[in-house]
Amino acid sequence: QAFLSRIQRYDGQLNSFITVTQDSALAAAKAADERIARGEAGPLTGVPLGQKDIFCTQGVRTSCGSKMLDRFISPYDATVVERFKQAGTVMLGKLNMDEFAMGSSNETSFYGPVRNPWDTGTVPGGSSGGSAAAVAARLVPGATGTDTGGSIRQPASFCGITGIKPTYGRVSRWGMIAFASSLDQGGPMARTAEDCALMLRTMAGFDPKDSTSVDLPVPDYAACLNGSLEGLRIGLPKEFFGDGLDADIARLIHAAVAEYEKLGATVKEISLPNMHLSVPAYYVVAPAECSSNLARFDGVRYGHRCENPKDLKDLYMRSRGEGFGAEVQRRILIGTYALSAGYYDAYYLKAQKVRRLISEDFKRAFQEVDVILGPTAPSVAFRFGEKTADPVAMYLSDIYTIAVNLAGLPGMSIPVGFSNDLPVGMQIIGDYFAEERLLNVAHRYQ
Ligand code: GLN
Repeated sequence: QAFLSRIQRYDGQLNSFITVTQDSALAAAKAADERIARGEAGPLTGVPLGQKDIFCTQGVRTSCGSKMLDRFISPYDATVVERFKQAGTVMLGKLNMDEFAMGSSNETSFYGPVRNPWDTGTVPGGSSGGSAAAVAARLVPGATGTDTGGSIRQPASFCGITGIKPTYGRVSRWGMIAFASSLDQGGPMARTAEDCALMLRTMAGFDPKDSTSVDLPVPDYAACLNGSLEGLRIGLPKEFFGDGLDADIARLIHAAVAEYEKLGATVKEISLPNMHLSVPAYYVVAPAECSSNLARFDGVRYGHRCENPKDLKDLYMRSRGEGFGAEVQRRILIGTYALSAGYYDAYYLKAQKVRRLISEDFKRAFQEVDVILGPTAPSVAFRFGEKTADPVAMYLSDIYTIAVNLAGLPGMSIPVGFSNDLPVGMQIIGDYFAEERLLNVAHRYQ
């Protein structure tokens, strides 16, 4: 009730929710109370959470931030949603996002932009901007996000919260509407690493319904938070601290690194020589997969359908033309082009080769260091409209996060201070399935 009334009071200014599920939330809270009374509670029983509107929720609109799915009521729950239900959490509603998770500022949502609670003239980041803003404004204690190229970490950075993108395969993608299937990964966004650890324990684990989910035991992430950092080897990639990084952000990251040295860590400069290729490779691979995934929205099976189609082609063209916004259409066009006969080798195949080189860079780095630290984003939250006219400027917001998705590694963002009164995030990158280590490193700073 307390959170619902905060949502009612403040979300008019923020627009972080697309749907508030007041009645089912109160019923779930009551059921959680009963479960607690029976002594059957787990660590998250009764905890209110928000779900990014990309996760299918049975009986509740699942819009993915798009007009295409504005009236889509999912007939089933995503695995992540189902696991949270079983843990006894209380879903307060569905959170705003960039349309089909394509964007870095939440400005592509059909439901209008989300505003950053630290300064409502600035963007919250994207695509999980609703999740980040709702957590930052204390409208929810925790929320889910998804990260294809930075969409958990960059909004966490802009809104001063903590978020982790797990290793690809750690969290089931079943029921999470696909954008770029080889990159998409769900994860928690919350105030602290400790809260993220509790949420991730519930979200993670093998799911036979997702063929890319990995069959490995899920550690008790919260039990590892206080581990010693004595002897931890930190790598600082020189490519992360070059031109283009705001000086204030660089200073704050170095100050955080100095804290780790006091805790016994050692620091060395490393190199990820193919880093500069990550944004171009991503903007071939991600649109290619998007053009294929979004082919299912054809106006026939579900989603928006145009009025009075003349014939089948007209039905497809007008339903998709009306249902998808400009950024989604741009991605479909780029992806279809890159996959077309004659261009496949020049673009898609080449991007896949570059992707391998980027993974190899990280593989080499993790032979020398345990974690990589650096900025999450090149700037603090920017103002509305600042980058909307120039898609490439917008794409560069993810310059430090995208390589992690291309390699499938876990990455995290934690707040480390303020620049011009806006939050600054630091990124922590680890080797495959090193989520425990990342959460431990984050927690010892917090
Ligand atoms: N901003 C990037 C994009 O628009 C990443 C989005 C994401 O991680 N979902 O593709």
